[in-house]
Amino acid sequence: MLRLLDGKAMALTVRERVRQAVQALARQGRTPGLAVVLVGDDPASQVYVRNKDRAAREAGIEARTLLLAASTRQVELEARINELNQDPSVHGILVQLPLPSGLDAARIVRAIDPAKDVDGLHPENVAALAMGDSTGLVPCTPAGCVEILDQSQVPLAGSRVVVLGRSALVGKPLALLCLQRDATVTIAHSKTLDLPQLCAQADILCAAVGRPELVRGSWIRPGACVIDVGINRLASGKLVGDVAFDEARLVAGSLTPVPGGVGPMTIAMLLENTLRAAQRSFAKRSGATTQVARARQERC
Ligand code: NAP
Repeated sequence: MLRLLDGKAMALTVRERVRQAVQALARQGRTPGLAVVLVGDDPASQVYVRNKDRAAREAGIEARTLLLAASTRQVELEARINELNQDPSVHGILVQLPLPSGLDAARIVRAIDPAKDVDGLHPENVAALAMGDSTGLVPCTPAGCVEILDQSQVPLAGSRVVVLGRSALVGKPLALLCLQRDATVTIAHSKTLDLPQLCAQADILCAAVGRPELVRGSWIRPGACVIDVGINRLASGKLVGDVAFDEARLVAGSLTPVPGGVGPMTIAMLLENTLRAAQRSFAKRSGATTQVARARQERC
């Protein structure tokens, strides 16, 4: 019998957890701040940014969106990011990708202070994840996939996980997170041979390829857990995942729908990353204040 993994409901649990932690900070006179930078007027990006802004405000996070023209030059954008790096009221910075052509996204990501990099894409955070160091910030979508598995009590330790897709945003970090949690992980990509046979070995199959309904029901091991990260809009306007949902539901043991699966969880994890970055910044600042006070006392 299929268990539908309701990402929307699970995301609400995370958002409530964040809201309560933000309230606790507010009682100490502290407010986490998130800055979202949108360059250009891509309609899909505008929707994503609006949703992130709204979710952050609902959680009590002070959200601001910087709207910059598509003609913004690299140096100008880097200067704006530097201002946000220096701003103590901003704890999380997210530059909405993709950027308009002519802007070097990799350089922009490197310009963000790693402690404020709530997208988890700065090389320092990528390295932390690769080294199994849990102090870094982890990309939101893969973190959301693991949160869905955790909330659904699907065990990762000892499971065979197949991740379809090897992007820096989803596939690779998701594989590393699963590995960190003692799963046996295989990463597949566009050059992988015999995908159906490989997928059929998975206890947990994660699809992040951006190919509408690539994964057929016959690729899925009966009873497997299927996490569908894909968001693809068909010519008809319908939104579908990377998994053929109507086929998968007949075989899988549990399955995330599209929409209403990984998508809402991605935003929830952004809020959690912002909270984490803020908590660290507050702790660091009060640590520094204590040190100054102690030094003063010693001098008296
Ligand atoms: P991406 O950067 O385009 O990467 C796609 C990956 O899939 C690549 O590694 C590619 O292999 C692989 N691939 C493409 N066609 C394949 C095929 N026929 N067989 C096997 N592998 C194939 O995409 P992404 O940013 O990771 O995003 C993947 C999907 O997730 C998209 O639908 C995107 O919209 C969605 N997404 C959703 C969320 C969310 O919040 N739910 C967030 C981010 C992304 P090569 O490396 O060999 O090219």
